[in-house]
Amino acid sequence: MIAFESPFVPPEWIEAHGFQPMRIIPESPHEEGPWPLSEGMCSYARAFINMISHTPALAGVVVASTCDQMRRMAQVPGETAGARGSSRFASGAAGGAAANAPVAPAPLLAGCCHALDHDLPSVFVMHVPATWQDPAAHRYFQAELRRMGRWMERLGCGRAQQPQPKFVGDGRAKQPQTPSPGTALPIAVLGPHLLRCQERIFSIVSANGGVVVLDGTGNGERGWPAPVDRRGAANLVESLADRYFGAIPDAFRRPNTLLYAWLKREAEKREVRGLIFLWQTWCDIWHAEAWRMREWWPGPMLSLELQGGDGIDAATCGRIEAFMEAVRNGDAEGRFRRKRGVR
Ligand code: SF4
Repeated sequence: MIAFESPFVPPEWIEAHGFQPMRIIPESPHEEGPWPLSEGMCSYARAFINMISHTPALAGVVVASTCDQMRRMAQVPGETAGARGSSRFASGAAGGAAANAPVAPAPLLAGCCHALDHDLPSVFVMHVPATWQDPAAHRYFQAELRRMGRWMERLGCGRAQQPQPKFVGDGRAKQPQTPSPGTALPIAVLGPHLLRCQERIFSIVSANGGVVVLDGTGNGERGWPAPVDRRGAANLVESLADRYFGAIPDAFRRPNTLLYAWLKREAEKREVRGLIFLWQTWCDIWHAEAWRMREWWPGPMLSLELQGGDGIDAATCGRIEAFMEAVRNGDAEGRFRRKRGVR
């Protein structure tokens, strides 16, 4: 089994190498593991690395280099293994011989290695270029897929096979349906990936008369690849690069116009009335985007920082409740003005 966390990692590519892909979404920031709670650490990245540290069935883990926090977290299993003197440690962070070079044990981790009673999985850092308009960036992504393929071959399986039928069609084995708004206020949620416990935001919106018709978090629709094209089987690497690297919008991309174009298109299609914009504490990329989004988004918007705890405390619930009230009043006001012909 190979675990991954980023929507930029194609599960088809893992499966084509004979491994079972498993996307890990940690339940809560309190996941036990080698990395303690600390200032400056994104709770999602920390929970992810702690979770893979105590999942013994994993052959490997793929981490995309889409933010500093994840790049740093990807070093933890290697450092922990180095501190324990494990011979299985093999990081794919760099190419060639450097990929297998041991890393000096981190003092922070040295004291907690005794808690782990199994070998840590091999970690592959997949470099995803921030720029995307130049064809060279697409070729780089394809080269990274091939490098990941060689890493998986070293882990013990054969060469790439045909993609499995269950991935053919829409790119993912299963995609949730967009809920129908009915009489509820249609709301969009945008942000990075969420911990499972943070998905409670969706039910808080529902409890206040709304429905999330557009899930723009990394767990949701924003992370879906483009549909499979005819080249899928003939040139798998090229097709995967186009469908994943060429299509998935994210705040780290430069320029990140894909994100705004996607949001505009999908929000208009679903007649979204309000936007809830989220970021995890210490997530610089999405936090920085909040200011630009506020200037750009034409309707009511709520910026919410998901703090290190479960992130959805009473104050956060209260803010969502007040926001939904404002959206509802704004809607009523808009209808009133349209009826009176006031612009
Ligand atoms: S929430 Fe932000 S900082 Fe944390 S892993 Fe995701 S992108 Fe990186």
